[in-house]
Amino acid sequence: NILEDSPLFNAGKGAVLTEKGSAELDASIMNGENLMAGSVAGVRHIKNPISLARLVMEKSPHVMMIGNGAEEFGKQFGIEMVDTSYFITEERWNQFLKAKETQKKIESDEKHGTVGCVALDKKGNLAAGTSTGGMMMKKFGRVGDSPIIGAGTYANNKTCAVSATGHGEYFIRLGIAKDISDLMEYKNLSLKESAEEVIQKKLIELGGTGGVIAIDRNGNITMPFNTPGMFRGYYLNDGKPEVDFYKE
Ligand code: ASP
Repeated sequence: NILEDSPLFNAGKGAVLTEKGSAELDASIMNGENLMAGSVAGVRHIKNPISLARLVMEKSPHVMMIGNGAEEFGKQFGIEMVDTSYFITEERWNQFLKAKETQKKIESDEKHGTVGCVALDKKGNLAAGTSTGGMMMKKFGRVGDSPIIGAGTYANNKTCAVSATGHGEYFIRLGIAKDISDLMEYKNLSLKESAEEVIQKKLIELGGTGGVIAIDRNGNITMPFNTPGMFRGYYLNDGKPEVDFYKE
């Protein structure tokens, strides 16, 4: 919620805009203990889409809800609704005008900003969540990887928790987050090996850009990306918070 509320990131307030100039937000969340998951796509009035994804997970028998239906569902639980103008910051609007003028999509490798979290608690439970405005100048109705369980988000106590950012179409086609988990489960690779294989090999071979943040059940953390930078950080029980932008 804090990352969604910050205008610095491409999620919630300050999200990127569709080619029609409005924000359409996607989010998902997964609980690795029981493989419960919730996601929403194309919502336009929900202040914190990740909270709606959590409501879908906890209060509905479904995994994924879209657009008006998802918003109606959220209203029943008193979720905070906002006007569509709430999401548009001056900086994003200017970026949108510039993109429109040049008719050029601002590729995600130039502007990462999707937000995600992965966490391990003291009981050994893993969880992952992702929230985004998608990609600048996306077609009205386009849905990326962030709300797709297995692509942009995945958590399983047996393996790891993963949240992704990048060019969503590639992440969907490769089922990136689940693939990282599967390599650990079926090939016995470490978290780092699995994530490297997927981000630095498979994704690059297909021509996609982006990265993931991931943590395994033993608390190992890896955050590989194949772009010049990816805003990322972690916090351990006994350590100081660590924040990085570019490659180490
Ligand atoms: N993965 C997001 C999407 O394709 C965008 C991003 O991470 O920058 O919707």
